[in-house]
Amino acid sequence: MRKYVIIGVQGSGKGTQATLLARAFDLVHISVGDIFRWHVQSHTKLGAQVRRTMAAGDLVGDDLVEGVVRDRLTQHDWNYGFIIDGFPRSARQAEFFLESYDIDGVIHLDLPDAEVRRRVLARRLCSRCGMDYNLIADRPAEEGRCEVCGGDLVPREDDTDQALAERLRQYHEKIDPVLELFRRKEYVVTVDARPDIETVQHEIRRRLGLPFSTAVQEA
Ligand code: AMP
Repeated sequence: MRKYVIIGVQGSGKGTQATLLARAFDLVHISVGDIFRWHVQSHTKLGAQVRRTMAAGDLVGDDLVEGVVRDRLTQHDWNYGFIIDGFPRSARQAEFFLESYDIDGVIHLDLPDAEVRRRVLARRLCSRCGMDYNLIADRPAEEGRCEVCGGDLVPREDDTDQALAERLRQYHEKIDPVLELFRRKEYVVTVDARPDIETVQHEIRRRLGLPFSTAVQEA
């Protein structure tokens, strides 16, 4: 059983790296941001509660977040373990997590702010089928058009310059105490997130003592 937390600013590739680890080692990948986005898109009561906060680039309240994480982990569908992405994002969330679950490692993907801006502002989402694109790495053949369904490509609602600046400020303010808490327990491995996907994945596995034999597949 392997239980990991992956921490990284938006655009650091934490979703991609978490997906690769989950596939290779049969872990359940839990993305708190994805769970919230699902609620917003599905117009649930929780979705209505978090929609504006998310669009403004603010953090959802700790109580709501902890409830979502607790519910997800009580499903116990993680026989080989889990990798949780986007949580904890505050010292309080970290304390809640440490009290409730023992973890094997915290992967900290490190990326300078200038590179974050470049990556995040290049992200696009198909307004019809939800397919992700990136104008740096993953350009569609026809500009502004989804290759799968022909829908319009739009930025994610919370990927504006202003919302990003606010997210970066909050990220640094909140995540430092979280990392400090985890560092005290010697859980943290910090990995440079600038190289390509495969290099970052290899470095994560090397630092966590995980085997390389399982192929790295594109997420
Ligand atoms: P993400 O995709 O991880 O960037 O999450 C998208 C949005 O969901 C964030 O901007 C927050 O509004 C909310 N969110 C996700 N995870 C958390 C968390 N652990 N604590 C508070 N808010 C969160």
